[in-house]
Amino acid sequence: MTALRSINQDDLRNHNLSVIIDTILRSPTLLSRADLAKATGLTKATMSLLAGLLLKNRVVREEEPEASQSSHGRPSTPLSIAHGRWAGLGLQINTDGYGCLAMDLDGTLIDSAWVKDDMHDAEPDQVFANLEKLTEPIERKLSRRHYRTVGSGLALPGLVGGDTTLLMARNLGWERLDLQDFPLVRRLSPRVGNEARLAALAQIPGYAAQRPAGGDEGPLSPTDSFIYISTDIGIGGAVVRRGAVEVGDHGFAGELGHASVDLNGPTCRCGRRGCLETYAGRRALVEAAGIATGAEAVKPQAMEELYQRWQQGDTKAVDAIDRGLDAMISVIASAINIVDVDTVILGGFWSHFGGNLAQRLQDRLNQLTLGRDAVDIRVLIPTQADYPALKGAALVGLRRFIDDPLDFFAD
Ligand SMILES: [Zn+2]
Repeated sequence: MTALRSINQDDLRNHNLSVIIDTILRSPTLLSRADLAKATGLTKATMSLLAGLLLKNRVVREEEPEASQSSHGRPSTPLSIAHGRWAGLGLQINTDGYGCLAMDLDGTLIDSAWVKDDMHDAEPDQVFANLEKLTEPIERKLSRRHYRTVGSGLALPGLVGGDTTLLMARNLGWERLDLQDFPLVRRLSPRVGNEARLAALAQIPGYAAQRPAGGDEGPLSPTDSFIYISTDIGIGGAVVRRGAVEVGDHGFAGELGHASVDLNGPTCRCGRRGCLETYAGRRALVEAAGIATGAEAVKPQAMEELYQRWQQGDTKAVDAIDRGLDAMISVIASAINIVDVDTVILGGFWSHFGGNLAQRLQDRLNQLTLGRDAVDIRVLIPTQADYPALKGAALVGLRRFIDDPLDFFAD
């Protein structure tokens, strides 16, 4: 049990500010002070005081007053997240390259850079040094524009032990890295997370940045539950329960790629047999379709060749995809039975096969899950499909501010 803390005025104010910012971020429409007081349960007087603090520190700005619906007839002034002050920095190292992205608290993408590279067996020191070189111009741009960078995140394709250790990333050939060895990590102190988990966070509307106006962000709400599947050479996953990722007791939850679908199947890189990854991972599919093997099979061109052959109806390509799909369905149906959610978001290269494939997946899952008579399973293609883990990394950086706004305010 953690030590009891006495509640002082700053703790309370920090908590209330955090709740207000969260409420604004998650709302699909603009809210006035009165709307916010109602939504948060704060008194109008407290709300007015705290709104003043948020305005002064350029977290929110006042929009044009709207004609009020209330009987008092006073126009209400909606508040929106101010642009150009608070930024989160996302970093990612993946099997197909590395990159950096800066996001404004109002949801605007400030800048991003990505280097495509075959990362298999890349030297960690070199990769982190390259990533730092890529990040510096973006950091300079943020400071030129008078942004305050409130935090950063780092997405890695493997098992992450807290913010300081990468236990393994087999598809990079990395094992037991002390992340504090790298100057970039020491300088920025990013929150480190598995790429699937951070990609899942990026799908949650209003998680750490303003939702886009007009509701064109897709069918999810901020408190939905879903399974996110990240597909690349490896296959990762995350379970989101009512808007929060279930990380597990050791941070390892959601590793769907290593659920076995055949005890006599091919040996997986994890040491077990018949893991999903050995049927539905990018390398496995390319090899099964007879396009390339080994290091050649992980190159992007090999995957493009697979798409083309599949579209042209090439028998080996179609068989490989069908077998991969069967394995995906088997594991996802088991996962749905275990965790009981009704929404699956299919991320990574599998989402590029198009809506028809998602529909096939959805139809089959609706025949196979135990709760099929009571629950309709839906399979969605992500709305945040481009570099979702990189965006998620920037968002966990922004969460530092949202969780403790008072730490960042001038007195
Ligand atoms: Zn495995």
